[in-house]
Amino acid sequence: MLTLMQAVYIEQPGGPNALVHGERPEPTPAAGEVLVRVAFAGVNFIDTYHRSGLYALPLPAILGSEGAGTVEAVGDGVTGFAPGDRVAYANARGSYAALHSVPAAMLVHVPEAVSLDIAAAVMLQGMTAHYLTHSTVALASGQTCLIHAAAGGTGRLMVQMATLRGARVIATAGSAEKVALTLGDGASAAIDYGMQDFVAEVKRLTDGHGVDVVYDGVGQATFLKGLDCLRPRGTMVIFGNASGPIAPFDPLMLSAKGSLYVTRPTLATYIARRDELDWRARDLFTWIAAGTLKVRVVKVYPLADAAQAHADLAARKTTGKLLLAIA
Ligand code: NDP
Repeated sequence: MLTLMQAVYIEQPGGPNALVHGERPEPTPAAGEVLVRVAFAGVNFIDTYHRSGLYALPLPAILGSEGAGTVEAVGDGVTGFAPGDRVAYANARGSYAALHSVPAAMLVHVPEAVSLDIAAAVMLQGMTAHYLTHSTVALASGQTCLIHAAAGGTGRLMVQMATLRGARVIATAGSAEKVALTLGDGASAAIDYGMQDFVAEVKRLTDGHGVDVVYDGVGQATFLKGLDCLRPRGTMVIFGNASGPIAPFDPLMLSAKGSLYVTRPTLATYIARRDELDWRARDLFTWIAAGTLKVRVVKVYPLADAAQAHADLAARKTTGKLLLAIA
């Protein structure tokens, strides 16, 4: 007999109102999968790309790429996880639901010192901030980076991690309130890029030299100007498109601007290996337990209000992590 569970899904791409809160069949764990009873699902910008169709999904599709909860059952061949274990994951789609069947290869145990809401809040944006600051570019003292949208969910974690690594952080954000938040997170300077010319400000703040790295999750609105913030042979890390996708560009531009590097990384590549997934999750949980990393959960919505969470995120109203609580 088909058993139903509550979930938030789309039948067609669209705006926040395309999200349907209703019932979907309960999943059963296939071989190698773990059935997780989801307590909290993280809301991420990628969920809005899935919803809008920028990143196309087979439909209908349950949204959500991140969650934390307890193991309900395990599929054939799964070792290391048992019913009742507290677990969390990122990059497995379908977490806006009471139950989610997740590949064991993507799950980590949540230590007792970390609550499930915080675990759900940190897996995707936290591991992203980790790989961007530790692997895409291994930041070190003496380096300066520019972080766009630094008061957002990923941005606030990146500012803290870049600072932990000893780098100097110049942040951008879209309001005076957001600028103040990112300075509180450890940025040494912050620019309201809605009001100020961030290229001129970065040049001023670096005595004309430019920064070693630009981290750009905003995309269309900032990419080209960001290239002008880099020192010769500096690195542009494009990791998102919050303002829209970047148009194709001529690589000769990179030589003209000083032999620049451009990379477009994604989390999946950086947690594909079990040892890398464990390293990043372990660092996050250790820093959280020690109070070294602050995870800013700014609002917890009931699952039924997922559309409101999407609308708030897309309208630039939020300054940290949004969660959905799944009763
Ligand atoms: P955020 O909480 O950072 O929200 C997005 C922020 O982007 C807004 O708060 C806003 O900050 C800024 N922004 C600038 N222009 C716009 C616009 N036109 N519309 C909406 N927002 C805009 O979201 P996330 O932390 O979830 O994601 C941040 C970025 O990181 C996204 O692009 C996401 O896709 C990317 N990402 C990439 C990953 C990867 O592995 N490649 C993994 C995780 C996230 P402000 O008002 O200050 O400008």
